[in-house]
Amino acid sequence: MTFADFKLTKPLFQAIEAMGYTQPTPIQQKAIPLALAGHDVMGIAQTGTGKTAAYLLPLLTKLHYAQPEPPRALILAPTRELAVQIDEAARALAQFTDLRCVVLYGGIGPTPQIEALQAGADLITATPGRLMDLYFEGHLLLKNLKILVLDEADRMMDSGFMPQIRALLEVIPPKRQNLLFSATIPASVLHLSEEFLEYPEVVEISPSATAAETVSQTVYAVPNLKTKVNFLEYLLHDATVFHKVIVFVRTRETANNIYKFLVRKFSEAEVRVIHANKSQSTRLNAMAAFKAGEVRVLVATDVAARGIDVTMVSHVVNFEVPVQYEEYIHRIGRTGRARQSGQAITFITEAEEWHFQKIEALIHSKIPRTMLPPAVEIVETPREEAQAQAREIDRQKQKDNPDFKGAFHEKKKRPAPPKRSPINQNLPGQKSVKVSIWAISR
Ligand code: AMP
Repeated sequence: MTFADFKLTKPLFQAIEAMGYTQPTPIQQKAIPLALAGHDVMGIAQTGTGKTAAYLLPLLTKLHYAQPEPPRALILAPTRELAVQIDEAARALAQFTDLRCVVLYGGIGPTPQIEALQAGADLITATPGRLMDLYFEGHLLLKNLKILVLDEADRMMDSGFMPQIRALLEVIPPKRQNLLFSATIPASVLHLSEEFLEYPEVVEISPSATAAETVSQTVYAVPNLKTKVNFLEYLLHDATVFHKVIVFVRTRETANNIYKFLVRKFSEAEVRVIHANKSQSTRLNAMAAFKAGEVRVLVATDVAARGIDVTMVSHVVNFEVPVQYEEYIHRIGRTGRARQSGQAITFITEAEEWHFQKIEALIHSKIPRTMLPPAVEIVETPREEAQAQAREIDRQKQKDNPDFKGAFHEKKKRPAPPKRSPINQNLPGQKSVKVSIWAISR
């Protein structure tokens, strides 16, 4: 299948050529004809599959050229970063048309956005909060809306945007075309789709297939935090191979600590950090620098990294396993995007093993655990960390088996474990812990 198989407008074919797209991606092959035919569409696809163009191309075809009436299409996104990115993609695809694209998001003063709206807009891309603020203040008319897109609907639900979406649905024309895209379909998104879509056509790109196709995944068994840090430093020393790397962590605190460590070991110019506590402009600047290749390593939390579209990411390093398992798919979707090969490397401690097995079930594939290279210094697990890990493993066992009493508590009555044993995390009371890769000395 080629793009010529779709009934798109000439300026869009020109843009597709200018952007170097030679062949539609699977989600585009499935979604574009349905959306062009006027159906409501529910697309299940992660970032990196080409989903943005899958809805933008039919949408821009329908808008065709600029009209002196209120906006006819609206795309909602859960984060400012994603909204900016969609707007950029829309402008790129609409570059040979006279269509006017305006992006609205919070965190900065509204005046430039209000001015842009006053100048006229055919397509609006917005985060729900800022959109509804501007609407209720009378800066925006939505009575002419013909197409509504909800992108990353799962994240939209996670971020608690349902009230704003409900408010929006009340003020826009009921007769319109709706497109909903989501990487995963939790119950909240199913409810939303029932409220929002009319007889939708569902198109799906299975995450396991996409993840397995272009991203090579490696999992390293790493006993503790300090060893993870050593291993990360070891990997990043090879700047030729690791030339564009996103390091994912779970919390802002870890993000800041890793960032500071990397700045000390490498240089300030090579590393940036993004998390929810950073200002909007800092996050956008960091992303732009990373995108442009000025910065080699981006340390990010899941929340901050939502919707990041950076091409040619060489590696995604999961410094910690996400406890929201779908995040793994989102994370590794940053590499190997749209037909480029990429690598995802995950560090797991024994306490994270249980979570990673859930991820493997989700992606329908088993990834072998790899031993650390001999050059990486393995540090002894500090007592506090070993105890935290043991407690976590107990918690997991109790979840799997409510009768499990908990080896950690049993252990408390026993003498302290011997020092410098790699099996330290498997406290003596934990009889059922199998001798794992962490316990094998090299
Ligand atoms: P998305 O999944 O929408 O975030 O898109 C991921 C990346 O793939 C973006 O950088 C797009 O520019 C790119 N892309 C989208 N469609 C195609 C295509 N048909 N061929 C090559 N690259 C594409």
